Amino acid sequence: MQIIQAATTAAPDRARPEDNEDAFRVGPDWALVLDGAGRYPGVTGGCVHPITWIVTRLAHHIGQQLATDEPVTAVLHTAINATMADHGPECDLTDPLSPGATVAFVRARGEVVDWLVLGDCVAMIERLGAGCEAVIDDRVDQLDAPVVDTAVRTYDPAHVAQARNRPGGFWVAGAVPEAAEHALVGSADREDIARVMLCSDGVSRLIERYGWSWPNLLNLADRAGSQRVFRAIRQAEQADPDPRRWRGKRHDDATLVLARITENRP
Ligand SMILES: [Zn+2]
Repeated sequence: MQIIQAATTAAPDRARPEDNEDAFRVGPDWALVLDGAGRYPGVTGGCVHPITWIVTRLAHHIGQQLATDEPVTAVLHTAINATMADHGPECDLTDPLSPGATVAFVRARGEVVDWLVLGDCVAMIERLGAGCEAVIDDRVDQLDAPVVDTAVRTYDPAHVAQARNRPGGFWVAGAVPEAAEHALVGSADREDIARVMLCSDGVSRLIERYGWSWPNLLNLADRAGSQRVFRAIRQAEQADPDPRRWRGKRHDDATLVLARITENRP
């Protein structure tokens, strides 16, 4: 597995670059992307830690587990447990709005490639000769909850509290290890996979909001690099005539990892 691109950029309206709530990590045969599942204004979620701390802890533990031979679901389950243990007694992890992160990771080991997606990070799997398949967990988009119209249009937190990490709702990696069992997982023969791209929703909005295709995005990242992709995102966001038609922020942190798995067959 060869990492071609791996980069993150904070939303331009963040006060400091280190407030970026996305993260990526890469290892010899794995890669991961995380996107902090943020707090609602005025809601602590029972936790004293910043989202960036939770994302960093999850990234560390998932990376450690990906270096084992554990199945991908067990990797995430164990990493959530370990992150919960890091919080300490001042955090109430039973709070239904306890902060967490959405996740996408891939591991190429032996003859097999495995991937996992939970929440709105995406894994784009390019099969040799068979095109792109985006692995997308859209359960949060299907939530039957009112959108509240404040500075940022979000779901009503009271409704999210009823649906988050609950059957029939949506799942994030945070304070409920069972969320791992609800992740989207897949695997393929290594020799059938050309490239894999992991990204946060700050990148996939090029497709979801701005009419790009996955092959367009993949090829731009491969040929021109992640910084060129990030410029395209900011240009599209700036040119958006009505950003408040979307749930969520005008700008978001953006992260992508692009890995080559198998070279084209001769
Ligand atoms: Zn905490």
